[in-house]
Amino acid sequence: MGNVNHIDHIENKVMKTIADHELILKDDKILVAYSGGKDSCAVLYMLKKLGYNVEALTIDLLIGDWSMENLVNIRKFCKEQKIKLHEVNVRDEFGYSMCYIRSAVQAKVALKNCTICGVIKRWILNRKARELEATKIVTGHNLDDEAQTIFMNMMKGNPKLSVGLGPKSGVMSDGKFVQRVKPLYFCADSDLRKYSMAMKFPVLYDPCPCSSAAFRRDILNALDGLEKEYPQVKYNIVNNYLKSRPMLVKAYSGDDKLNRMNYCTSCGDPTRNAVCKACELLNIIKVPA
Ligand code: SF4
Repeated sequence: MGNVNHIDHIENKVMKTIADHELILKDDKILVAYSGGKDSCAVLYMLKKLGYNVEALTIDLLIGDWSMENLVNIRKFCKEQKIKLHEVNVRDEFGYSMCYIRSAVQAKVALKNCTICGVIKRWILNRKARELEATKIVTGHNLDDEAQTIFMNMMKGNPKLSVGLGPKSGVMSDGKFVQRVKPLYFCADSDLRKYSMAMKFPVLYDPCPCSSAAFRRDILNALDGLEKEYPQVKYNIVNNYLKSRPMLVKAYSGDDKLNRMNYCTSCGDPTRNAVCKACELLNIIKVPA
């Protein structure tokens, strides 16, 4: 497939995903979680091109040169594309860099880098989206990410973990939760890399130096290996999940822990527990959210 055809193919696929799954309405105010990677850059570019009301939010995690290079690229791209960029610096928000928060938490509890980082990022993203009155948060999750997560949850023997997956995230709906949607849901990682290179996006292709996703990497390698022998394995995993999701949701509809809605006693954000996960982590190192 030539570059022009490939570009059209990816953009058409994204438009179809948005339409088929009713991900975004014309009057939505969209906030794209822009990490500086190829996927978030691609989805930001496409939504702007499609004429949506789109702004970008980046969270500077202060992970050394990697974060600095990403930030340079992010600012450059938003300026070129005339996209309003909101920057959140994790030290301004909490008083510490992500590396410090992680080490301080890990000195007391055994949690992986990405678990801690992911919780903090999701909290900031939802909080900022609400402040900016965004009606949708867009993330750059792609087909490979979703297939890996579904497969990982199967390997853990815990289907309940998959209930909130899909092109629209979340089981609970609440006025304080801004819905997260994934327009790249059916786009393969390799296709997005090709798209990003063809478009000459200013992005880093190096992975985050703090990634702790060893299990995810093993699953990724296994699925890549399978896909060489059995094309469409990733698509089939995701499609099969989507077909069985209504049964999964029904099976867990009576699960009190999954469907329970509280407001965090510390920050007021919606949570299934008394205290949300971000405050739980920050309370460990005594940084009030
Ligand atoms: Fe954070 Fe892990 Fe992503 Fe790095 S790879 S930014 S540590 S979630």
